[in-house]
Amino acid sequence: MTTRPYIVGNWKMHGTRAMLAEARAIDRAAERLLKVEVAIAPPFTLIHATRKEANLIGIGAQDVHAADGGAHTGDISAAMAKDAGAGFTIVGHSERRADHKETNALVKEKAEAAIAAGMNVIVCVGETEAERDSGKAEAVVANQLSGSLPEGEGVAEKITVAYEPVWAIGTGRTPTVDDIGTMHRHIREKLVATFGEEGEAIRILYGGSVKPDNAAELLAADEVGGALVGGASLTAESFLGIIIAAAAEDQDDKS
Ligand code: PEP
Repeated sequence: MTTRPYIVGNWKMHGTRAMLAEARAIDRAAERLLKVEVAIAPPFTLIHATRKEANLIGIGAQDVHAADGGAHTGDISAAMAKDAGAGFTIVGHSERRADHKETNALVKEKAEAAIAAGMNVIVCVGETEAERDSGKAEAVVANQLSGSLPEGEGVAEKITVAYEPVWAIGTGRTPTVDDIGTMHRHIREKLVATFGEEGEAIRILYGGSVKPDNAAELLAADEVGGALVGGASLTAESFLGIIIAAAAEDQDDKS
């Protein structure tokens, strides 16, 4: 079964070396919060330095290219991100799907490339507001999972899924706990249909405006195994508020 709650900070396009102090503070505090698995995905430029500052927490990339290498100016391969110190990568974040027109097929290629390079992956899915309003949220997410999840021997144990409704990212709005639970149960069904028993153990994170003051409530939703956090991961103070809520939630022994 799933283990510790997994709290992942996505720093997006934020951070110069001045932010390494936040990573150091998060790492130091994580030492006292071992019930929670903590990670951050800084921009590529900070992966190496963050890895050196932070020994305990996971360090990941926010994206990788699907190819091993070659003429792709400005891109970074999975092997390069891993060499810099990333143990995992996010793929299919809605900002990449929107800004870079990433398709499900490309997200799947990226996930498979990252796993082949020895990394774990966080595969992001989530509906837009218009899709939710028209009753299509579950169908959209099911379709994203069908198209984006990597295939191959032993991949299930490398995967985390993040459900991030696009309309909740950076907006301060969140779905209800019931809506999160309903979607996460659908995702679980899909993972079990795809990977069999191994699909039961894949962690499903919720992402979208998770903050210290709503984390306990959101993390208590059915089938939520942690959170992918954007804005509130940018300072140690607010990120630690979420990690502490996750540690308390774990103590409450949600099964
Ligand atoms: C995200 O972009 O992954 C995210 C969840 O952002 P925020 O927490 O700022 O809504």
